[in-house]
Amino acid sequence: MFCEQCEQTASGQGCHQWGACGKSPEVNAVQDLLIYCLRSLAPVALKARNWGVPTGEADVFTCEALFATMTNVNFDRKRFSQYVRRTITLRDNLKAQVEQASNTPVEWSKLSCFEPDFNQSLVEQGMTNYKRGEQSWQSKE
Ligand code: SF4
Repeated sequence: MFCEQCEQTASGQGCHQWGACGKSPEVNAVQDLLIYCLRSLAPVALKARNWGVPTGEADVFTCEALFATMTNVNFDRKRFSQYVRRTITLRDNLKAQVEQASNTPVEWSKLSCFEPDFNQSLVEQGMTNYKRGEQSWQSKE
C-alpha cells in the first residue's frame, strides 16, 4: 500500500505497510480503486451537464464517497466496495442518458470506460493495478 493523504502519515513520507491511522492495505486498495472509478465518472458527469442531463445524484454521491475516503475514520471495506459499484452504475446511467440526449454515438475516453471486474477481488485489483510511480491504470486513459 501507499497512502499519504493525511498529516498522520508515517515519517511524513507515506504509510507503506499499514496505516498509522489503522487503515489496512486491503481498505487502502479498495479506496484507490474507488478514486479511480470516481475519476472515470467525473468527465461523464461534465458531459451530461453540457447536454442538460441532471447530475445531482452523481454530484452528491461523489462528495459522499470522497469524504468517506478522505476522513480516514471509515475502514469498512465492504462499504467502499459498494461505493465502487455505485460509481460505475451512476456513470453508466449518465452515459446512457447522454447518448439519448445527443441522439448520436458518443466516444468515451478509456478512463470513462474503465470497468472493475466485480467477479474478482476488488482488493487485488486495487493492489495490482495501481502502483505509485507506475500508475498503470493511467496508461489506459
Ligand atoms: S490516512 Fe492513514 S494510511 Fe493514509 S497517510 Fe494518513 S495515517 Fe497513513
